[in-house]
Amino acid sequence: MSFAVAIDGPAAAGKGTISRAVAAHFGFAHLDTGLLYRAVAHAVLHGADPVEAARTLNAKVLENADLRRPDVAQAASKVAVIAEVRAALVDFQRAFARRAAGAVLDGRDIGTVICPDAGAKLYVTASAEVRARRRYDELIGRGIETAYEQVLDDVRGRDARDMERAEAPLRPAEDAVIIDTSEMSVEAAVAAAIAAIEARVSVARP
Ligand code: C5P
Repeated sequence: MSFAVAIDGPAAAGKGTISRAVAAHFGFAHLDTGLLYRAVAHAVLHGADPVEAARTLNAKVLENADLRRPDVAQAASKVAVIAEVRAALVDFQRAFARRAAGAVLDGRDIGTVICPDAGAKLYVTASAEVRARRRYDELIGRGIETAYEQVLDDVRGRDARDMERAEAPLRPAEDAVIIDTSEMSVEAAVAAAIAAIEARVSVARP
């Protein structure tokens, strides 16, 4: 029986770290769905049409390190408002979620649109200031020169686009467990996520 975990939330809330740890803990496959939108945005920055890029996306491009760049993240939240782009990416994500071995998908609309029947749903969030500080530290650590104020502006701009768009806006599913990581260590956030999922897994597999 397949079991899907949906992990949604705004940029830099800790979704990626939690998703990888959860996938390793349960032996599930992990898909960072933000990479799909980043891959489309990357193609658009190189002159492609967004809808065409989404329809012809090849999973191999998801390994491209350039997808992690801040300019690609901003462009991703712009292509992500296009309904046809989102529609073109649905089947790939749903097929991944049905993997027999179990799957963790993280993104913005996994619990609400992609996998409304997910076995467990988490919404991982944190204040904009905390998220900006974490993203700033990460960028500096990767040797990317930037200013904290710039990163905070980017986080707020992306939040507004992701939450206010008409198509699949970012919001917690009604049955999601909310984890606010603002004041939490990574270890505590991962433990809270695993405990919330464990409860659901034991319901599905008594
Ligand atoms: O998660 P990440 O920061 O890589 O996502 C980049 C952008 O892709 C987000 O700001 C959002 O606009 C979009 N996205 C989305 N739906 C998802 C995952 C990401 O709209 N499921």
